[in-house]
Amino acid sequence: MTDRILTTHVGSLPRPHDLLDLMKARLSGEPYDRERYESRVRSAVAECVRRQAECGIDIVADGELSKPGFFTYVKERLSGFEPRPGKKVAFFDAERAAFPEYYKEYFARAMTGGAVAPVVPMVCTGPVSYKGEEALRRDIDNLKAAMSASGAKAAFMPSVAPSGAGSNEHYKSDEEFFFAVADAMRHEYRAIVDAGLYLQIDDPFMTDNFSDPALDDKQRRRFAEIHVEAINHALRGISAEKVRFHTCYGINEGPRVHDPALGEVAPFMLKVNAGAYSFEAANARHEHEYHLWETVKLPEGKALIPGVITHASNIVEHPELIAERLVRFARIVGPERVIASTDCGFSSQASYKTEVHPTVVWAKFQAMAEGTRLANQQLGSRS
Ligand SMILES: [Zn+2]
Repeated sequence: MTDRILTTHVGSLPRPHDLLDLMKARLSGEPYDRERYESRVRSAVAECVRRQAECGIDIVADGELSKPGFFTYVKERLSGFEPRPGKKVAFFDAERAAFPEYYKEYFARAMTGGAVAPVVPMVCTGPVSYKGEEALRRDIDNLKAAMSASGAKAAFMPSVAPSGAGSNEHYKSDEEFFFAVADAMRHEYRAIVDAGLYLQIDDPFMTDNFSDPALDDKQRRRFAEIHVEAINHALRGISAEKVRFHTCYGINEGPRVHDPALGEVAPFMLKVNAGAYSFEAANARHEHEYHLWETVKLPEGKALIPGVITHASNIVEHPELIAERLVRFARIVGPERVIASTDCGFSSQASYKTEVHPTVVWAKFQAMAEGTRLANQQLGSRS
């Protein structure tokens, strides 16, 4: 029995440069050595999981090293979609309109602008089905091999929420579209849980609704509800304790004055049939929001996975501050219901130039493990 706070992170980590070279060749359609590529993915995952374990991460992940990025991943795993280069996708509109010069410069070098291959919007033009079995099997096998080699006892694998698949031109309504994607993604969700891993549903789109200037309040709530219903449809029959839900705000380092408050998003987030909820709480726009849990009751049997280190800055958080952040949550909901984590992934697109330098990521992980040890000490937790 343990009531100690455990450590984890959100998933994506910087890819080694030699792996990026191979990935780039593969994505651009150049001839590449498939066996060499796959063996390099396998060794990179092994190395990455070993480093996480050495840093003191309890619930590890494969760093999403095999995935070129959030959007390309959809293309590789779902049929019924086609790339639509040049399509305008509404995203962060209010924020971009408020700071056009900043974001013009930022998106040219960071996030999708820094990706190893151009990020092309995906449009659904036919019936959606899952076609990622082989890629998923390889990811699961690589992670499990890395776990046994490193001695890591628990791991999670992220997978995209139905709302992240792209836009719809085939189905009659949004509901029909999101439910079709949910039925397809369900194959992946189940396979991850059946493999003995925690499933993490990644949903940065849940928050984006709330700042979309094109929607009124009623439409925002309606979209959030459809998203939640689609996720729960995909999760039916899967034990909530094997599922964690991650939401965030999409942008990493920026003014972010249009990020909706956690208080707006939480009522919808808590309706997702997950056992734990991962959200940003370690940056200057969201740190104060731990107070929310003083008034919003966390349902029985659920846990919080707050960010206590951020993906939005190269400053390595001091372990004393990390401990303080964790103790705040633990005093409200109990240490056994808190898992220390990061605000978001450190490389949601495969990139040569991640916003947080790879060497800094590992220093942050070490600080998080040390801060969690201090918090457990302060809380008198048994381990
Ligand atoms: Zn995120």
